[in-house]
Amino acid sequence: MSTTFTYEFDTEAYKGKVSFPTGIFIDGQFSAGSEGKTIDIVDPTNGRVLTTVAEGTAADVDRAVVAAKRAYDSVWGLKTPGYQRGVFLARLADLMEAHIDELSALEALDAGKPFLWAKNIDVTGAIATIRYYAGWADKMHGKVIETTEDKLAYTRHEPFGVVGQIIPWNVPLVMMAFKLGPALATGNALVLKPSEVTPLTALRMCSLINEAGFPPGTANIVVGYGNTVGQAISEHMGIDKIAFTGSTLVGRKVMEAAAKSNLKNVTLELGGKSPNIIFDDADLDAAVQWTSYGIFWNQGQACCAGTRIFVQEGIYDQFLKAFTEKARSLKLGHTFELETYQGPLISDIQFTRVMSYIECGKQEGANVHLGGERHGEAGYWVQPTIKQEGATVHLGGERHGEAGYWVQPTIFTDTTPDMRIVREEIFGPVGVLIKFKDEDDVLRQANDTLYGLAAAVFTPDVSRALRVAHTLQAGTVWVNCINMVHANVPFGGYKQSGIGREQGEYALDNYTNVKAVHVNLGHTV
Ligand code: NAD
Repeated sequence: MSTTFTYEFDTEAYKGKVSFPTGIFIDGQFSAGSEGKTIDIVDPTNGRVLTTVAEGTAADVDRAVVAAKRAYDSVWGLKTPGYQRGVFLARLADLMEAHIDELSALEALDAGKPFLWAKNIDVTGAIATIRYYAGWADKMHGKVIETTEDKLAYTRHEPFGVVGQIIPWNVPLVMMAFKLGPALATGNALVLKPSEVTPLTALRMCSLINEAGFPPGTANIVVGYGNTVGQAISEHMGIDKIAFTGSTLVGRKVMEAAAKSNLKNVTLELGGKSPNIIFDDADLDAAVQWTSYGIFWNQGQACCAGTRIFVQEGIYDQFLKAFTEKARSLKLGHTFELETYQGPLISDIQFTRVMSYIECGKQEGANVHLGGERHGEAGYWVQPTIKQEGATVHLGGERHGEAGYWVQPTIFTDTTPDMRIVREEIFGPVGVLIKFKDEDDVLRQANDTLYGLAAAVFTPDVSRALRVAHTLQAGTVWVNCINMVHANVPFGGYKQSGIGREQGEYALDNYTNVKAVHVNLGHTV
């Protein structure tokens, strides 16, 4: 049995009604979870329950795997030619585009993202990714390999069959696109678990997947908790490959479960503590703007956020002053106000986690140069009111800060390398500013981390920029910019930030097995 989520937006940024079925999505149909339980979905702007969705279980994962396997064996995989898989994906991208405002509003509502960020970065990026992989679907090539005159050897890049995918809450639709695109382009059937915190766009996508014409069972979506549905996917004997995005802590558990079950192939996109390096000769204004985007975009809830901001001593004071002014000027506000730069953190748990890191920084002796508090207690303005279908329920209308999970943009200075706020992923709008002497000094400090997801370097000196880029231990290095992700450029981590790459041609390798075929043309032993 499915339920319908209906919501009417009457806000500055978006006016419109959304209404779509939700449930456990298996074989192209919605149902309740096997135990009939539900999960509360909370509005991060006020902490109230927005809706409930069906909670999946390990038994639902079993059902989803059966459906995926049936689809894979009967109609999908290499039985559907690549160009046709590409047509389905291209249609899905077109449908997402046709519903861009609706998807953006849902993402903003569910994840607390400012509507315009949700639209211009998340949903636009997700569409670009699906469209990009539509183009790859009929371009999967093996190689012919020279051996001896009387032998033909070639490779085929074959899908795994049924793949499992688990994604986090910080960029829900983007993560879904990163997973769906390459898996379906290469002909795999999939069982995907969205975050139990932000499942709404994934559930909306289910109907679009049907509408795009994918055969039932090719993409199955099971919303549920990590220790039940996530664990069941990770250890499932019918799943040959798992792709996980989330924390390093949970990534380790997924890998353990994969190792202890059928030794399934694993790719991991994990946490980060990325360095952002500003040299003396950098364009100060540009570096300030990018740095602010690097740490405060998405409320700092970005795996690649430039959290360790290294500034060379000659420019340090000037940079600190300008960066402080910039951070002060950022408009914190409701997700559906057009001027809002920074919305609330995703949840009470995340709010408490970020605030406890801030407290920890203070106790370890770092200086809170800016922010460090919950935002709103001193504010006087009122949240815009959102009407929910059924007319009488009005959300919002409260003074900002009495509810919701806003944290002030926070800058720490006077840190030491051993402090937890310098070493651990905070996943909130909290940056640490660290003064450095020269290139050797900053490279040593920047690489002194167990993470290696991304890094940025600001300098007009091309030789220095490239020398530094090549020495940084990170899967992505941005030069004179930060947090730029493109569908056709690989993304992923060194060290404990992950295994494998998403996006670009590289992600196709995550979803294909290479088979070598040797053909004897006359040779005898
Ligand atoms: P998380 O690790 O807590 O959860 C991620 C997903 O794993 C969720 O769907 C969760 O339900 C599930 N899960 C939890 N326990 C599980 C278990 N035992 N077995 C299987 N699945 C389980 O992460 P989060 O809090 O949702 O997201 C934040 C983290 O994600 C941050 O560390 C961030 O850096 C990381 N992230 C990384 C990337 C990247 O591309 N490298 C992108 C986005 C987010």
